[in-house]
Amino acid sequence: MSFVHIVVLAGGVGGARFLAGLRSAVPDARLTAVVNTGDDVTLHGLRICPDLDTVMYTLGGGIDPERGWGRAGESWTVRAELAAYGAEPTWFGLGDRDLATHLVRTRMLDAGYPLSQVTAALADRWQPGVELLPMTDQRVETHVVVADPATGRQQAVHFQEWWVRHRAEPEARAFVQVGVDAAKPAPGVAEAFAAADAVLLAPSNPVVSVGTILGVPGLREALLATPGRVVGVSPIVSGAVVRGMADRCLPVLGVEVSAEGVGRHYGARSAGGLLDAWLVHTGDAADVPAVAVRAVPLLMSSPEATAALARATLDAAVGGPLCPPPLAGSRRDPEERPDD
Ligand code: GDP
Ligand code: CA
Repeated sequence: MSFVHIVVLAGGVGGARFLAGLRSAVPDARLTAVVNTGDDVTLHGLRICPDLDTVMYTLGGGIDPERGWGRAGESWTVRAELAAYGAEPTWFGLGDRDLATHLVRTRMLDAGYPLSQVTAALADRWQPGVELLPMTDQRVETHVVVADPATGRQQAVHFQEWWVRHRAEPEARAFVQVGVDAAKPAPGVAEAFAAADAVLLAPSNPVVSVGTILGVPGLREALLATPGRVVGVSPIVSGAVVRGMADRCLPVLGVEVSAEGVGRHYGARSAGGLLDAWLVHTGDAADVPAVAVRAVPLLMSSPEATAALARATLDAAVGGPLCPPPLAGSRRDPEERPDD
């Protein structure tokens, strides 16, 4: 089977690298990335979209490969000047080159353009070779409920503050998607699912990246109506995260930090979940009822290894859906789903 249109749900670094591998594996296919915007934050008056930027810079050749985020050849003059004023927050690194992106974005948003159009305008410079869609044009921000170490009182902090400032040290009690009730999938998202030959869940954080995307009202239903197969790639390898803080997030939802745990959390499409197939790392085992599980190398350690992973993901997507999409009206209430 040749893939004409592939849609990928992506967070930041893991999603960006996976998309780069996919682009080189199937250069002629139309690729659409539906990207998490729950990490977005306004700092110093600027709207910052970390996952969209990571994907855009990675695919456009502008990423700092060592850090995995931000611009290559970055300088930090503005950050030092802000710190000299004592202008908070000082814990979030905004490089000089990166700042230009946020200035353009904020200016366009202030002029009334929706985030999807702003993203397309920014991508015009970077030519990522992948259609980049924010999950939603509405403002949705992930907050983390933590207990104040001194008083024990619960408080919610922005995801970026928890992760970047506090290195995910305070134990998370819950994740809250502020604003999600008023959100709807961005223009093009439902259409992309409806036309997709395959929908792939990148090896991104299942809670605060993929989970956040799926939390946008209507998006999950649009995904499940896809005629293509849905294939997920485990972000957990040998019982541990490759990078990031998924191991601090999954237990909050009662999900085991393992390829099997995440696979079961996503669940089988035939049983109200998402997956037709699930890829785990060579040597890992996962029993996910009613899901085709395959073990292949999952470490995106080089462009070649990443392209091979992308090909393996598409191999798992061959054959059409294991279960047809539910008929309109027979869909279960999202509240009922065991993995929400
Ligand atoms: P973030 O937005 O920067 O957190 O990036 P993602 O949402 O893409 O999440 C990072 C996730 O990707 C973590 O759970 C990592 O374990 C996973 N990840 C990173 N690199 C790799 C890799 O090479 N292989 C696999 N299988 N997972 C990876
Ligand atoms: Ca992220």
